[in-house]
Amino acid sequence: MTGIRLTAPDPGWAIDADVVVVGSGVAGLTAALRCSAAGARTVVVTKARLDDGSTRWAQGGIAAALGEGDTPEQHLDDTLVAGAGLCDEDAVRLLVTEGPAAVRRLIATGAAFDTGADGEILLTREGGHHRRRIAHAGGDATGAEISRALVKAVHETGIETIEDALVLDLLTDDAGRAAGVTLHVMGQGQRDGVGAVHARAVVLATGGMGQVFSSTTNPAVSTGDGVALALRAGAEVSDLEFVQFHPTVLWLGPDAEGQQPLVSEAVRGEGAHLVDADGVRFMAGQHEMAELAPRDIVAKGIMRRMRETGAEHMYLDARHFGRRMWEERFPTILAACRAHGIDPVTEPVPVAPAAHYASGGVRTDLHGRTTVEGLYACGEVACTGVHGANRLASNSLLEGLVFAERIADDVTARLAGGGLPARPATGPDGPARPATGPAPRTCPLPAPDTRHEIQRTMTAGAGVLRSARSLERAAAGLDALHERAAREPEGGARAAEPCVETWEAANLLLVARALVAAARRREETRGCHWREDRPDRDDAAWRRHLLLRLDGDGTLVVGSTGTHALPPATHRTTPGSAGTPQ
Ligand SMILES: Cc1cc2nc3c(=O)[nH]c(=O)nc-3n(C[C@H](O)[C@H](O)[C@H](O)COP(=O)(O)OP(=O)(O)OC[C@H]3O[C@@H](n4cnc5c(N)ncnc54)[C@H](O)[C@@H]3O)c2cc1C
Repeated sequence: MTGIRLTAPDPGWAIDADVVVVGSGVAGLTAALRCSAAGARTVVVTKARLDDGSTRWAQGGIAAALGEGDTPEQHLDDTLVAGAGLCDEDAVRLLVTEGPAAVRRLIATGAAFDTGADGEILLTREGGHHRRRIAHAGGDATGAEISRALVKAVHETGIETIEDALVLDLLTDDAGRAAGVTLHVMGQGQRDGVGAVHARAVVLATGGMGQVFSSTTNPAVSTGDGVALALRAGAEVSDLEFVQFHPTVLWLGPDAEGQQPLVSEAVRGEGAHLVDADGVRFMAGQHEMAELAPRDIVAKGIMRRMRETGAEHMYLDARHFGRRMWEERFPTILAACRAHGIDPVTEPVPVAPAAHYASGGVRTDLHGRTTVEGLYACGEVACTGVHGANRLASNSLLEGLVFAERIADDVTARLAGGGLPARPATGPDGPARPATGPAPRTCPLPAPDTRHEIQRTMTAGAGVLRSARSLERAAAGLDALHERAAREPEGGARAAEPCVETWEAANLLLVARALVAAARRREETRGCHWREDRPDRDDAAWRRHLLLRLDGDGTLVVGSTGTHALPPATHRTTPGSAGTPQ
């Protein structure tokens, strides 16, 4: 491949830290607070404002075995079922056993969850959960409350934060270990333009990649930057084919693009029905849990019914809640619907599936370590193994909490014990330290508006319904965009002056190509990966993870763990051991 190199210009300024955390959602801020509390000099860099990730948008809540009669073991069982045979059981066990205490620590940090008259946390049910175990805040504004509490705590702690700072690439030392990041800061005086944060450990907490599709619940910042950065740094990513499409996203017309309002699963948890245009409850015959079946089942049920009836959407009917319940329990969703001219109190809500959550991501071990020394990942950008082929509802906020804490503990123990490189001495010119390690992998630089072509290609070929042919078309479309970017003469000039849109387009293109490569390779239907041409789950051939990495020349390589051989607790498989170029 002959792409124009996507590398940042030399940093014009630099600062120094023990730990740089990239991203300020539940995962990033939890990691930062705990690293800082343990004495590590911590800097948080984030692309927009501190509360601009998916976390703020989370509605339903956070899952943990907090209720009477519930146990981590039952939470584990539900998680494994949703994960369709691909969860790492050790990772899930950590999630469900450490989860309740992590939620209580979040409450101690200042997050106020809804409680009953007795002061106990109110718990609701969501799809795939056999118990009421979802704690919520403000009715349906759980993420906003978590974000508010964490941002406040970060400000009170005095952790240094750099907003409007797009992280571009990883810096490495001459041994190939993570040594910080380059970033492009927009309009902050002395820190304007491209700079560097040099650090002994880098924590990626950049969230998801929903913007790779035309229609998504994810905010604009969710462009898969962390996965792209990790690939360029030589790290291994895993399970990218498993994109969860949320079944009930407010349908705003066939041409709606970008972030769309979510109608939380909790609405179904409280008894809303999915119906077609004739009012028929079509999920009742498809799964024993009907509307509360795991998300992939419900999304597929909706898509099937849409195909059968030729409709562009289905309906969620919760008129029987009545005005009072809508206003008290789901004020955010009620307001979003009404803002679009739909009143759920008096009419069914039009809904259709949209891209929601990336179950895969940067492959980590149980301490959040990636395959690049000193580079960690947590939250939605990571693939810890807890979600397998499909995330159980409300497990993602919990994963962000639990694994961010585990990373902080690992990082601070290694900082203290000499397990991470020493911080370089600050000289008269400041702490600037050139990166001398391997350069990032080659990537072409597309025009910023390529983003829409990528999104349309992905939605048409790699959405809820996939087949060998649709994926082949998507791969060809993405390859054409890739080649076009590589040929564009002005690409080099743009590389010298990176703008947010250009970098995001480059990241989206790389992540889209990786996702399609994995989806083509997995010739079965499992979890949220639905192949119409391979409708059955095939454990004999496919109970394994697909791993991807970028070769030194920028070629995507797909490998896998062995058949049946779910990854060991450390996840340290040879990168792309069974790999072939894609
Ligand atoms: C509408 C909606 C509802 C949801 N409801 C629930 C729910 O009820 N329960 C649940 O468990 N989960 C829910 N989820 C999923 C959950 O909210 C996310 O998975 C979780 O919040 C991700 O947290 P995070 O910290 O990993 O990432 P985010 O909260 O997305 O934060 C990512 C951060 O990284 C920053 N960033 C990204 N790229 C860069 C870059 N290049 N440089 C610098 N910074 C960067 C972003 O600006 C942001 O600050 C929902 C998601 C959505 C979108």
